[in-house]
Amino acid sequence: MRGDTYIIETLREIVGPDNVISDAKALDGYANDGSFVRPMRPLCAVRPAMVEEVQAVVRLANRERIALFPFSSGTTYQGAHIPTERGITVDLRRMNKIDLLDDVARNAIIEPGVTFAQLAQAAEKKGLKPMTPIGVPEEASVLATYLENTPLYLWPRYKTWETLNVKMVLPTGEIMGTGQMALPDSDRPYHWATNFAVLNRVFFGAQGTLGIGVKAAVTLRNIVQHRKYIIVPLENIEKLNVLSPALMHQEANDECFVANALYFACLFANDKNEITALEKSLPTWIAVIGISGNDEAEVSYKELDIRDVLDRFGLKGDTTLAGIADLQKRLMQEIDHPRGMLNQRRYAGGCSYIACMASNTQLSPLYNLTLQQAQHNGGARAELGWLLMPLNFGGSYYFEPNLYYDPADAAERARTQQLFSNISRTLIHAGAFFPRPYPMWAEEVYFRIGAYHRKIKMCKEIFDPNNIMNPGKLALR
Ligand SMILES: Cc1cc2nc3c(=O)[nH]c(=O)nc-3n(C[C@H](O)[C@H](O)[C@H](O)COP(=O)(O)OP(=O)(O)OC[C@H]3O[C@@H](n4cnc5c(N)ncnc54)[C@H](O)[C@@H]3O)c2cc1C
Repeated sequence: MRGDTYIIETLREIVGPDNVISDAKALDGYANDGSFVRPMRPLCAVRPAMVEEVQAVVRLANRERIALFPFSSGTTYQGAHIPTERGITVDLRRMNKIDLLDDVARNAIIEPGVTFAQLAQAAEKKGLKPMTPIGVPEEASVLATYLENTPLYLWPRYKTWETLNVKMVLPTGEIMGTGQMALPDSDRPYHWATNFAVLNRVFFGAQGTLGIGVKAAVTLRNIVQHRKYIIVPLENIEKLNVLSPALMHQEANDECFVANALYFACLFANDKNEITALEKSLPTWIAVIGISGNDEAEVSYKELDIRDVLDRFGLKGDTTLAGIADLQKRLMQEIDHPRGMLNQRRYAGGCSYIACMASNTQLSPLYNLTLQQAQHNGGARAELGWLLMPLNFGGSYYFEPNLYYDPADAAERARTQQLFSNISRTLIHAGAFFPRPYPMWAEEVYFRIGAYHRKIKMCKEIFDPNNIMNPGKLALR
């Protein structure tokens, strides 16, 4: 293994001196993402602008056996890109080209530095839009967010096929595409039916352990002119396991999510005082059901279908909420241009989310278990923000408790970290599904899936024989 000076000098030759960051202060931005993962600075950060530069960086790292930590926008907030050993952060933000916007197939080919804000602006000119994530700001990388299978507002309608194919720089420096992207000369490489066997999804949820995504073919949606949100106050979530399948089976909805008053207040108020006041005026739980159509008539008949279901459950749907002016407009704004976690952090400065999935029958038990943990929060009852999103026609849910804390208060931070661990462990052992086991969860999740984890380790050895790609993540050692 050669010394730091050799590594940094060679990287400067590859990407130019301005694109290698070695100043300790500047590196702090890659060392900490506000999560409970132990901060660690990389040796340096490199900012390639082209696929060939990524390849050259990867080949150098593979030759010198030095770790690489892919970074596209750093909005996971779970320590997924934080170094675990001496290594180089590969900051992909300069790779921000939209290679193609196909308004017939409604697909785009993008690089990892393309953000939701950027793609939305370009797609709008063609009457299209990307599907935006829940909880993640619009400055996030589209490619990395989709590669991590982050829940999207439109999942309840369109399911999880937002990314069709990806092109990866493998840890050996080879380039490999999936599906039609595997072919050298395919100019529109995103046909739905062209996924070659098995390997197509191997890079999803891999947290950068199997290679660096440099291109992705993603799906876009039409911008529809007529949209409406039905707001349904709920006293509790007890009936959600029967209400949401009934709603989803109508297939009249676009977005559909359920939040408690605190989470909802954080979406729309600016600081702690405003949030506290708004929270008090809101119903305990709020379901938001989006409808859209090409004309008013289409919206109206979809609304009737939804109101039929609400009537069956004795529920009322409204279009306004006391305390929030212009609610319809502001919901649209948050969904099209999310501020995500930045909203939640307005309450106490820090917020940590636990992202998992619950089946329909697990919803109430997992909710109650979480509350029990929150009541034993080192003697101080913790306040939780809740976000739930029905998936699989209401057969399962994205299940996200949020923990708020003041990061400047060391005792409160430590207490919240303990609570985060306790809730996570309780949920994992009670059967909640953690599809993306980020560093705080990986050991606990993979401990329970022995054979599967052994096979993932074997895949890792095939793709990354020198273990240079985001080592230590996904409990891969
Ligand atoms: C409230 C909230 C809820 C969330 N819920 C979920 C959830 O349920 N499931 C989920 O999976 N994520 C979830 N996320 C995580 C998050 O949305 C995405 O992972 C994030 O937007 C990815 O973008 P990033 O590049 O900024 O992240 P980064 O932190 O930069 O990277 C995320 C991971 O991907 C790797 N990576 C980055 N770029 C590349 C690339 N080009 N090629 C290969 N690997 C790369 C990194 O090394 C890291 O391991 C949530 C985030 C928030 C704030």
